[in-house]
Amino acid sequence: MHDRRAILARLPKTDRVLQEPALERSGWRRAVVKRRVQVELQRLREEVLGGRLREVPDAAGVARAVAATLERWARPRPRRVVNATGVVLHTNLGRAPLARRAIDAMVDASGYCDLELDLVSGKRGSRFDELRPLGRAVLEADDVHVVNNNAAALLLACTVLGGEGGVALSLGQMVEIGDGFRVATMAAAGGCRVVGVGSTNRTHPQDFAGALQGTLPECEGRPVRAVLWVHRSNFRQEGFVGEVSLRDLAEQAHAAGVPLVADLGSGSLGTGLSAHEPTIADYLSQGADLVLCSGDKLLGGPQAGIIAGRADLVERCRRHPMARALRPDKTTLAALHATLVAHGQEGVPSLPLHTAVGIGVDTLEARARSVVEALGRAAARVIPTRATIGGGSLPGDTLESRGVAVTVERVERAAAALRERDPPVVGRIEDGRLILDLRTVDPADDPIVVAALRSVLP
Ligand SMILES: *Cc1c(COP(=O)(O)O)cnc(C)c1O
Repeated sequence: MHDRRAILARLPKTDRVLQEPALERSGWRRAVVKRRVQVELQRLREEVLGGRLREVPDAAGVARAVAATLERWARPRPRRVVNATGVVLHTNLGRAPLARRAIDAMVDASGYCDLELDLVSGKRGSRFDELRPLGRAVLEADDVHVVNNNAAALLLACTVLGGEGGVALSLGQMVEIGDGFRVATMAAAGGCRVVGVGSTNRTHPQDFAGALQGTLPECEGRPVRAVLWVHRSNFRQEGFVGEVSLRDLAEQAHAAGVPLVADLGSGSLGTGLSAHEPTIADYLSQGADLVLCSGDKLLGGPQAGIIAGRADLVERCRRHPMARALRPDKTTLAALHATLVAHGQEGVPSLPLHTAVGIGVDTLEARARSVVEALGRAAARVIPTRATIGGGSLPGDTLESRGVAVTVERVERAAAALRERDPPVVGRIEDGRLILDLRTVDPADDPIVVAALRSVLP
C-alpha cells in the first residue's frame, strides 16, 4: 500500500497538465479540457490503487492521452461502418441503411422547412399533414400516426386505450426484444396495467374472457379495456402449443366492446421480402384496430414508430399529451416520407434493405471471387454463408449468401483490427475463421473489404 501511495504521489496535478502545449492549443474550452483531465487522472489513480499500474505518465503523457480523446470527440458520431456480418437489419449497426432519396430528404429538411406551416394559406399546419394521406394510402389504413419508435407507439397506444382496466396480453406473447427490453414492461411504462392471460405455451378464448369480464383474479374486479397482440417476431414456439388466432381474438374483443392493438414490430409491407412475415394490411384485415410497427425494421426507413388503423383510435393517440413528448423530428419525418414513397411506387421498393435481401447469389459469388483474387492469398477463400434479416424479424429465416473466409492465427485479434480501421469493417467469427459476408456490403465498398483483409493477412 505504501508503495502505491508513492506511485500516486508522482501523478501530475490537474493544473500542471492543463499547461501542456497539446492542451493549451486544443481548441476546446478550458472547462471541458479540465474535466477530461480530471477523469483521466482519476482513471490512473484507480489503476494504481488496483495494483494494475506501477509507472504513471508525466504531465505531457497525460496531456497526450487527453488530446487524443478530444480529437476523437471532434469526429462525427455515430461513425459509418462496413457491415459484413450478413445481418441485414443489425440493431447494433443502425438497423436499416437509408435510401439515397431518404438521406437527401433529411438533408433538405435539416435547415428551415415547412414542418408546421401550410405554404398555401400561410397558416399554421401540423407536422403530420403531408405524411398522413400518403401513409393511409401506402399502409392501407384508415389513419396513421408517427412517433419516435415502436416502443413509443406501444407506450402511447396502451396508455391511451388501457384506461383504468389495462390491457390483456397472452403470456405466450410476452416477448423480450433485446437489451433486456420487454414488450409488457414498455406497455406498462405509462401506468397501464398489463394483465397476463393463459400460459406460456397455450392460451384459450376463455382465458381472455376472464380478462374481458374482469373475473380473473389479477383483474381485481376491473375488466381490461383493450386486448394486446404481440407478434413473436424474434422467436418461434413448437410442440404442445396453441393460441387464439388474431382473427378470433379480435372478434372476442369487439364482442366485449374493446379494441385490439397488434404490435407487429417488423413492419413488412409485403413487397420484395420473404412472404412469411405478416404485413400491416394483413393484421388490419384480420380485425386488429391498431397496428404498431418500427420504421427501421422491414419498412427499411428511419427509426420511427407507426400507429396505423381505426381513425378514432389513432386520433385519441394523436391528441394525448404524451404524443407531444414522443413526436418525431423534421428529419425523421422527411426520411419516412421518402421511404413511404418508395413503397408506394411500382415494383420492389428501391431501398437498400430490399436490395440487400434481393441480390442474387451469383452476383455475390462473383464479388466474393473478385475479393479473393484481389487478395491473392491461400488463406482467403470464397465460402457459402447464410445471411439473416435480423432486427428481430423472421427468426430462422436465412438467405443463401457468399462470404470471404480467412484463416489467420489470432482470429479475435484480426477481427478487432478490422473494427479499428477507417471505416471500420465488422465481420463475424465462425469455426475459428473470420468471415465477411458480402450480402450486407454495398458493392462500392468491396475495395474497402479487400484493403482491410490485406492488412490482417500475413
Ligand atoms: C422491435 C420491436 C419493438 C420495438 O421497436 P423499436 O422500434 O425498436 O422501439 C416492439 N415490439 C416488437 C414486437 C418488436 O419486434
